[in-house]
Amino acid sequence: MDGQKTNAPKVDGEEILDGIRQWVEIETPTYDGEAVNKLADVVEESMRALGAAIERTPGRDGFGDILTTRTPWGGDGPGILVLSHLDTVHPTGSLEDYNPWRREGDSVYGPGIYDMKAGAYLAYYAYQHLVRSGRETPLPVTFLYVPEEEIGSPTSRALIEAEAKKHKYVLVTEPAREGGKIVTGRKGVGRYYATARGVAAHSGSRHADGRSAIKAMAKLILEVEAMTDYEIGVTTNVGLVNGGTGVNVVPRECTAEIDLRIPTAALAEEYERRILGLATEDPDVELTVTGGINRPPYQKDAGIRKLFDHAKAVCAEVGFELQDMHTGGGSDGCFTAALGIPTLDGLGADGVGAHAQHEQIYFSSLEPRAKMWIRLLETLT
Ligand SMILES: [Zn+2]
Repeated sequence: MDGQKTNAPKVDGEEILDGIRQWVEIETPTYDGEAVNKLADVVEESMRALGAAIERTPGRDGFGDILTTRTPWGGDGPGILVLSHLDTVHPTGSLEDYNPWRREGDSVYGPGIYDMKAGAYLAYYAYQHLVRSGRETPLPVTFLYVPEEEIGSPTSRALIEAEAKKHKYVLVTEPAREGGKIVTGRKGVGRYYATARGVAAHSGSRHADGRSAIKAMAKLILEVEAMTDYEIGVTTNVGLVNGGTGVNVVPRECTAEIDLRIPTAALAEEYERRILGLATEDPDVELTVTGGINRPPYQKDAGIRKLFDHAKAVCAEVGFELQDMHTGGGSDGCFTAALGIPTLDGLGADGVGAHAQHEQIYFSSLEPRAKMWIRLLETLT
């Protein structure tokens, strides 16, 4: 096109950014399955044009479809699973409202650009680059796009796990952080729902007859919050509380939602037992706690260490130093790592402000990351 050798197209940051922009400008809030499917349509078409085999699993419960695309090469043996999500936490209209597409210095803004449209696009771009260059990877590559990662992947988890079991490695396109660090460990996530039921009464004339569900829950909340132990990396958060019907009524019901983060499987079990075993002191207040671990902890085992060392060597060749870290946030990488499949996460673009109004990526991270993706796909065997 510009006189370059056609068998070695340039990895071009501006071209990558144009592609990311197309994906960002299709807004994809998790709960709007139709909106997410509009982006799935675009990805499907682009992948089809590059010769990939397409499978589309219809969405359930109002969520978007799951899109699975496979390279035409590499055979049927276990290969590389590239895991992306197309949904974002931002409601439709965010692009007009609080985070319009714009470029200021090295920062490029847009809802969901960092988590994780830029990352998903980078992996796609690597595939496109290989096809354009007439190169193939030794292993087959599956690109899996899920529609509801931001709420814990309730409709895609089974498929993610089934695919992961058929693959040798999993590469997750979640955002990089703190200067481009990738993720080789994540805390597991538990979600619990507590309901206290007491006895309603008039707060003036029959106060003694009442049993306050809010009062019982207040004690319970303090107990749950006290389980936080930064030393061992366990945190609990009561993030939502609801209760009562009027200021002059002793409240009959109160509910609380608990978020638990745990670094290891053993601690997950222990804290799950403690939370499900919560009880009230008052025999007239009935307490139920439901829920469970929705993402297991992701720990850096020998397989992950080896895969990371490989990626580090690839990045050194590309021209940057790859570092890794452990983070508290969950991702679909937790599912695949828990199955024992070597998983690297956080391979997306560097930036800041995931889920926030100022969400942005750093343009300068695009070219090196694209090169890393190309070389990773080409060198894993
Ligand atoms: Zn994400």
